[in-house]
Amino acid sequence: MEKIKLENLTLTYVDAKSSYTAFENINLSINEGEFVCVIGPSGCGKSSLLSILEGLNRASSGSAYIDGKKIEGPGTDRGVVFQHYSLFPWLTATANVVFAMKQSKCKGTKKELMEKAQEYLSKVGLAEALDKYPSQLSGGMQQRVAMARVLASNASILLMDEPLGAIDPQNRRELQILISKLAKEENKTVIFVTHDLEEAILLGDRIVFMANKNIQADISVDIPKPRTRESLMGNQKYIDMHNNLMQLFYNNIADKVGKDEVVI
Ligand code: ADP
Ligand code: MG
Repeated sequence: MEKIKLENLTLTYVDAKSSYTAFENINLSINEGEFVCVIGPSGCGKSSLLSILEGLNRASSGSAYIDGKKIEGPGTDRGVVFQHYSLFPWLTATANVVFAMKQSKCKGTKKELMEKAQEYLSKVGLAEALDKYPSQLSGGMQQRVAMARVLASNASILLMDEPLGAIDPQNRRELQILISKLAKEENKTVIFVTHDLEEAILLGDRIVFMANKNIQADISVDIPKPRTRESLMGNQKYIDMHNNLMQLFYNNIADKVGKDEVVI
C-alpha cells in the first residue's frame, strides 16, 4: 500500500534578496513498511526533502501526500530523529519518551505509558538508564532515547536525517541493527538519510540517490534481510551495488569540481 507520494515536488527558498531551488519536480512513491535510504552529495537537498515531509516547509509547487492526504503541516503520524540529539534536558529518559507518546496521542494511564516507555528504552539497550537525565548520558545513549521515543510513539513514519552521523563506530553498528529490527517489528515506514554507502545498503529496502536537484537513481536492494556487515562483505551483490553508488557519487562530484579533484 502506498504510504508516501511526492508529485512534481519543487522547493525554492526565497528571501528578500535571492531565491534558491533546492530540488525540482521530484516524483517518488514509498510503500507502507518500506525502509528507504536517501543518499547524495552534501547540499543536494536531502534535509530539505525531509523538511517537506515533516511539514516544516511548504512545497513551492507540486505536492506531498501521506496516506493519500496532502501534507499541510507537522503531524503526530511522523516521528523525527536528527543527527543532534533533541531531548528535553529537564526530563529523564523515561519522561522524554512518555512526553512524545502523549504528544502523539498514545492512550493509557500514566503508569501504562511509563511501562511502555521503559519497555522501548530496554529494547534499545537502556534498561539501566531509565531515570537518567540527558546530561548523564553519552551521545550514543541519547540517540538511543531519541530512537525509543519515535518507536514508542504512534508515528507510522520515521524521518531520520543522518541519525548516526555523530555516533562512535561501536554504537553506530549496534544502532544500525536495532533500527532495522525495530522498524520492521513496528511496521514503520522509514526515510533514512545517510552519507554512508555501507549503511545505506545495510539498512535500505531501496536506495534513492539525489543529485542535481532531483532523484538520479532509485535502486532496490535485492539482498535478504536481516543483513549483517559481516555477511555483506563477501557478497557480490553488495560489492556491485557499492561500486555502482560510488560511481554515481564520482560522476556527480566530478561534474562540479573536475575529475582530478575527486576524492571519495
Ligand atoms: P543536504 O541535506 O542534502 O546536505 P540541504 O537540503 O540541507 O542539503 O540543502 C540543499 C540546498 O538548499 C543547499 O544548497 C542549501 O544551502 C540550501 N538551503 C537549505 N536550507 C535553506 C534555507 N532555509 N534558505 C536558503 N537555502 C537553503
Ligand atoms: Mg542534510
